[in-house]
Amino acid sequence: MATIAFIGLGNMGGPMAANLVKAGHKVVAFDLVEASRSQAKADGASIADSASGAVKGADVVVTMLPAGKHVLGVWNDVVPAMTKGALIIDSSTIDVESARAAHALAAKNGVLSVDAPVSGGTGGAKGATLTFMCGGEEGAFAAAKPVLEKMGKKIVHCGGAGAGQAAKICNNMILGISMIAVSEAFALAEKLGLSHQALFDVASTSSGQCWSLTTYCPVPGPVPTSPANNDYKPGFASALMVKDLTLAQDAAKATGAATPLGKHAQEIYQSFDAAGQGGVDFSGIIKHVRGLAGK
Ligand code: NAD
Repeated sequence: MATIAFIGLGNMGGPMAANLVKAGHKVVAFDLVEASRSQAKADGASIADSASGAVKGADVVVTMLPAGKHVLGVWNDVVPAMTKGALIIDSSTIDVESARAAHALAAKNGVLSVDAPVSGGTGGAKGATLTFMCGGEEGAFAAAKPVLEKMGKKIVHCGGAGAGQAAKICNNMILGISMIAVSEAFALAEKLGLSHQALFDVASTSSGQCWSLTTYCPVPGPVPTSPANNDYKPGFASALMVKDLTLAQDAAKATGAATPLGKHAQEIYQSFDAAGQGGVDFSGIIKHVRGLAGK
């Protein structure tokens, strides 16, 4: 079993680190927040005094941090302190440019690297059922896969450096747009006197079928496990959807890609966030869509 340093023990990183302990790895953990360190200790990890202290002698390092600037800050600190030939994995959702800069830093220091953002949310992190989208060289991916398998159920190699982040950003742009589309359809159905269940029964077995409808339906009733049945408690908070749609827009601008619906979805989620709804599940956007009626 490997010695794994885990840095960033928040909503996602905490349970992911706990799953590595459960799998029998020796986990040395670090976070800036004392409460997160205490939880990791209770979950069976040893706690380091600093990020660079955590990585000394580790076979594998995992980072799970808020954004690109945090990842580059931590990697600049820890990569030079790592054993040559060891592996570092970043599972945060960050911009492709920062991910590529992080890979370059690892290569310069003789360390293998993989960008491996996740989908599946906090439920997937707790249940070890995350999907990992990976970017990096073949050898680095092969080394990362057995570690990621202890935290997830689907591990996909998407290509070279930054390809995992590219896949994550594109996927979540589809998700943001499709959730608004499904919400608009329910809002129109309500005005037309069509019941939620009738629209669901037709669209879920017709050409309107999509994940935002059949797994994460934004109205209560048709899919009992969707956050709409739990007063739109996240799940996946709207503020995180704003983050991901903004990463997609930054990438579209940087590459010259045309993403008009992605841009519109970003603006709609930004207004929802600005109205104080950033902590509401992203399927709660249906309330905002209804509120746009007559405007
Ligand atoms: P979080 O804010 O709960 O956790 C981030 C942790 O990083 C915090 O505990 C913070 O103290 C720690 N941290 C920040 N800077 C640090 C530093 N320099 N050294 C050590 N620790 C530091 O966020 P989260 O919900 O766990 O998300 C983490 C990443 O996963 C984000 O990039 C997010 O976009 C992505 N993600 C989140 C979800 C979700 O549902 N929450 C789903 C998919 C992807």
